This record gives sequence, C-alpha cells and structure tokens, in this order.
Amino acid sequence: MRFAFEHANPGDLFIQKAPAATVGDLAEAVQELFGRTGARAIANVDFNHYADANEQLDVESYISKKGSLCRDKANCTRTRCLGCAAVCEVCCDVCPNRANVAIEVPGVEKHQVIHVDGMCNECGNCAVFCPYETGRPYKDKLTLFWSGDDMLASENDGFMRLADGKFSVRLAGEIRVVDVDDASCGLPETVRRTIAAVRDSYGYLFVE
Ligand code: SF4
Ligand code: SF4
Repeated sequence: MRFAFEHANPGDLFIQKAPAATVGDLAEAVQELFGRTGARAIANVDFNHYADANEQLDVESYISKKGSLCRDKANCTRTRCLGCAAVCEVCCDVCPNRANVAIEVPGVEKHQVIHVDGMCNECGNCAVFCPYETGRPYKDKLTLFWSGDDMLASENDGFMRLADGKFSVRLAGEIRVVDVDDASCGLPETVRRTIAAVRDSYGYLFVE
C-alpha cells in the first residue's frame, strides 16, 4: 500500500498518511493536499498576481544566478533573488527524473520547458511546486514522446519523431504529421521552433 500525505490543517506542515493505490493516485492526492496549500501557503504569495511580470524580457541576469550560492548575507535579499516572476523553471529543478527540460529555442526570447514522457513516473512533484494554482507541468507542457503507443496512452499535447524525419504532433487533441522545417506547416511558430530545437540541439532526449 502506498500513501499520500495529508495536512492536519491547511498550511500546516504536520502531516498524516492517507492511502493511495497507484502512483497516479498518489500524485493526484499530493497535488490536492499540498498543491493548493503547501508551497503557496508557506510562501504566502499569490503568484498569479505576478503573471504579467512574466512578460519582462530581461531574463539573463536571473538565469545567471541559478545554482549560485550567495555568501553576502547582509545583501542577500537583493542579490540572491532568482526573479521567479521572470524565470521560473522550477518544474525542471524539482523533477527527480529530469523529465522537464528548459531548452533554448532560436528566435524565441525565453527558454521553453518541454516534458519528456518516457522519463516521467507521474509522481506529481512538479505540479506541487509549480507556483501557478492550476499548473501541472507534467500534463500541460509540450511533451516529447518516444513511441506512438506512449503518445496514444497520453492526452498531453506533444510530438514524436517519425522515421522520415517528420513529426507526429498533437495539439488540442488533434494529431497531424508535419515537417517542422516548413514555416507554413500550420503549427504555432513557437511550437514549430521548439520541436526543431529539440531535434537539432537536444538529440539526447530521443531514444531510437
Ligand atoms: S510528475 Fe513527472 S515531470 Fe513531474 S516531477 Fe514527477 S517525474 Fe518529474
Ligand atoms: S510550468 Fe510551473 S514550475 Fe514550470 S516553469 Fe512554468 S510556472 Fe514554473
């Protein structure tokens, strides 16, 4: 028997166990219990309030701070700010399986987060830590699939490389086969460029 954890009270760190039959159940239960009250309650911040700030484009200074430890304690509150409203990528940092990947896409200002279906065990951790109320990165992010069976077993929007170099792409439930080198293929431009960038610069994410 697996267990999900339950707050004794909303926002309370004291936890109790509740049964969950499958990993999927566990993820749903953890998101239900922690996602709405955990990180957001601890931080006491309404992250949705800062959604507009995500439009700011000066992201390089924040990206450069990721992974850098601040020793200037007196000024830490100013210098260690990671600018979460400008650059999040938390779902990439917290995934134990590295199944969310922030990638650079030529022609697109901000990193794009893609989800790798074959590396995810649906633990739900990224959804718990996503600062947005309804954020579920492992279900919402454009997903790289390794096989047609995997793609059909999922409802995620995503893509799979075909033998002829084209891609099978599902968006809003509709599957089409596209050549992502063709700017007129009908995909939203950011999606087209993102898939091409995965192919060209992140080939290690594919399995043959
Ligand atoms: S649900 Fe998947 S992508 Fe999210 S943290 Fe768990 S393994 Fe990683
Ligand atoms: S999906 Fe959520 S955790 Fe991931 S980058 Fe976007 S806001 Fe951050």
